[in-house]
Amino acid sequence: MAEINRAVKGTCDILPDDSYKWQEVEKFMLETSRLYGFKEIRVPVFEHTEVFNRSVGDTTDVVQKEMYTFDDKGGRSITLRPELTAGVVRSAIEKGLVNGALPLKVCYIGGCYRYEKPQAGRLREFHQFGVECFGAGEPAADAEVISLAKSVLNGLGVSKLSLEINSIGCPECRKKYHAALKEFFEAQKDNLCETCKDRLDRNPMRILDCKSPVCSEIANNAPVMIDFLCDDCANHFDGVKAHLNAMGIKYCVNPHIVRGLDYYTRTVFEFVSNSIGAQGTVCGGGRYDGLVSQMGGPAVPALGFGMGIERLMLVLESEGVTLPEPKTCDLFISVVGSAAAVKASELCAKLRAEGFCAQSEISGRGLKAQMRFANKIGAKFLVVLGDDELSTNKAVLKDMSNSETKEVDLDKLTEMLYEALKNSALGALEDSIL
Ligand code: ATP
Ligand code: MG
Repeated sequence: MAEINRAVKGTCDILPDDSYKWQEVEKFMLETSRLYGFKEIRVPVFEHTEVFNRSVGDTTDVVQKEMYTFDDKGGRSITLRPELTAGVVRSAIEKGLVNGALPLKVCYIGGCYRYEKPQAGRLREFHQFGVECFGAGEPAADAEVISLAKSVLNGLGVSKLSLEINSIGCPECRKKYHAALKEFFEAQKDNLCETCKDRLDRNPMRILDCKSPVCSEIANNAPVMIDFLCDDCANHFDGVKAHLNAMGIKYCVNPHIVRGLDYYTRTVFEFVSNSIGAQGTVCGGGRYDGLVSQMGGPAVPALGFGMGIERLMLVLESEGVTLPEPKTCDLFISVVGSAAAVKASELCAKLRAEGFCAQSEISGRGLKAQMRFANKIGAKFLVVLGDDELSTNKAVLKDMSNSETKEVDLDKLTEMLYEALKNSALGALEDSIL
């Protein structure tokens, strides 16, 4: 197929018959966020490349291999966001949000771009729902953010998920850990991939997140951060667990979770589904207490998560969750002749103003084809307008589900339809309306 007719590798179209699922899911995400006090923020799809290099970290896979980076016509290095936290932090600092009332709670939904090998659950353009909370350093904040992610997932009907948590400490306790990791990997240096050989000196923790089978095999036996936590970090982690227990949120501690982005400190977590294959992590997040100051803002603790919406859709499908399909057409007005078409426009306008989904024939087809179309779009009722109907101001309303018909006064079409839809049958219509 010619390129002009082919979507770019790793991208997806959300087609008209599926978009209602996305709308339902997104509405639920924003509504649940609102219950927890999170307000939506919208940030640009692209940022100065430095925003991501500095935050995500220049030894991560995301920055080293996956970013869509280009020079714009003004010679600036621009990157399509691989995730939204960096842009949100940039905005919160630039617009002074982190100097206002804290905690600041924001949520977002948006596209992310990563040059990865496309496969099930892994795309080059994908979408994330996420939240960020600034100025909340207490374990209660970690539990609240985890609880929000869980509420979204469970509320949408996902049940087969496990929550895995870990603590990756602070820069202080990480010093000792880095030394231990370095010693461990140094002994295996020859077996590591080229990228990880370089990481050994610069950031040994990144090796733990390498996707190469050999490196991950080696990493399985590496020392774990949780054994190196300082007292403050250990207490914080105990606090998070106490809050989760109190909220009835089940979790397991997985000392191997490190997350693929450099900015995390202390708590990290993932919601994992085992029903969608290898790419089972639907949601990942954690605390990033150093990031705001590292990006030039005040020293405020922060945390958040990102949830992959495409992966969530796969999970919903695999768990057999169905979302309510919206009505597409309450009434289709078939027309014969141009005067009838004008009348149909008038009636449609009135019906829509009342909240009905009304459509009329706008393709100039014959009656039979119009009927076929009305059927195809699932019209609940149908009315045919021709010269006779215009002169008598009456028409026959047909219930498409059972082919029952009733004569109706065109001036009373709105009331008629209201009653008919409420009762879902023409037979139930009250005489007074007819
Ligand atoms: P993975 O380990 O699967 O590569 P990640 O650690 O890179 O994930 P994050 O950067 O934490 O993922 O992003 C948060 C969520 O976004 C993931 O849990 C996942 O649901 C989703 N996600 C990440 N990368 C992709 C992608 N390429 N395609 C689809 N969804 C993705
Ligand atoms: Mg990744």
